[in-house]
Amino acid sequence: MAYQPFTEQTVVEHVRTLGLLEDGGIAHCEEIGDGNLNLVFRIRQGETSLIVKQALPYAKVVGESWPLTLERAWIEQLALREFASVVPRFVPVVLGSDRTLAYTILEDLSDFDIVRTGYLEGKAYPELARHIGEFLGQTLFETSDYAAGPIEKKRKERDYYNPELCDITEKLIFTDPYKDAESNNIETALRPDVEALWGDLKLKVEVTKLKVGFVTKHDALLHGDLHTGSIFATQQETKVIDPEFAFYGPFGFDIGQIVAHLTLSTFHDTLKRFERFTDVLTVWETFEKTFRTKFETAVEPFNTDGFVDELLQTIFSDTIGYAGCELIRRAIGLAGVNDLETLPETVRLERKREALTLGTTLIKQRHDIRSIDELVTLLAGVRV
Ligand code: ADP
Ligand code: MG
Repeated sequence: MAYQPFTEQTVVEHVRTLGLLEDGGIAHCEEIGDGNLNLVFRIRQGETSLIVKQALPYAKVVGESWPLTLERAWIEQLALREFASVVPRFVPVVLGSDRTLAYTILEDLSDFDIVRTGYLEGKAYPELARHIGEFLGQTLFETSDYAAGPIEKKRKERDYYNPELCDITEKLIFTDPYKDAESNNIETALRPDVEALWGDLKLKVEVTKLKVGFVTKHDALLHGDLHTGSIFATQQETKVIDPEFAFYGPFGFDIGQIVAHLTLSTFHDTLKRFERFTDVLTVWETFEKTFRTKFETAVEPFNTDGFVDELLQTIFSDTIGYAGCELIRRAIGLAGVNDLETLPETVRLERKREALTLGTTLIKQRHDIRSIDELVTLLAGVRV
């Protein structure tokens, strides 16, 4: 069947042909996505409830539209299945997928909260940081050369050939925020701060190095877009969704993104600073412990004395650098976040300036920050 975007009616008919719904009953279907990149349908019939996510052949952001490969749906379900083979409890069950129709059928997680939304409502997720640290430690290790072996690793890398989505990240995170690009979304009052940033040559060189790392390192399978809007949580459980940006990239990228978004959530709700920075600590410590244990027990050809310490130090400084890039990009780049955008103007401008300053510090000082305690002290010191 040739590609066509589903409607609420045709998606039910299609799912019925797959035997995922009982014959004869009445199914209720609703499109619940925001429709910018993908359609998300929730179908309910009796006890059954499932989600169909279908890619659209274009991306629509701020009224503009550009073509975007449907292959990203295939990559998304491949990554979800890959993550499930390593840490099944941290991803939704994939019930079906189709490469031509560009959809994935998923377990319905409507009882969970999207973490960003939950945070904005003042909620807390006590297990989240430990779970995300473990998710990262397990998946990054298991998909890397240290676990997959040279043949399998290179085969997998080929499966996650995702140039169009990587190009979006390269532009929106590493390139456009550092020049007067049309895609930027700079508030007028911030213009002088942003022009100062553009004049900071040392910063631009460091960002270029991080961008080169993003483009050239093929350490492990990344989620590629691991922010708090890509995580579902309850008090006990955590599920990572939406890996359409998945590709083989640097170990520190996903970790940096989550560190940045935990930090951004404190820009909205300063009372939660202690809790969120403790979460940053827990994410890193859990990641490090999981990764190190696996490395020391499982790796033979790479396990030269002292190597894993240096590797973790590189991952740590990359993490800090990528967190810095993400803070800057969310303050002035194309895709804003509600943590900042929903604040009243005066506070919002102040917080965006803080994001720029903190981001710059993290990028420039990433090699001087030697421990997670030092990083957390630095983050917490921004607004005392
Ligand atoms: P996009 O890539 O378009 O951002 P997401 O995968 O993030 O798509 O999904 C968009 C929204 O659809 C989510 O924020 C959530 O509200 C809903 N959604 C996605 N997957 C599920 C699921 N498995 N269960 C329930 N709701 C979901
Ligand atoms: Mg999403």
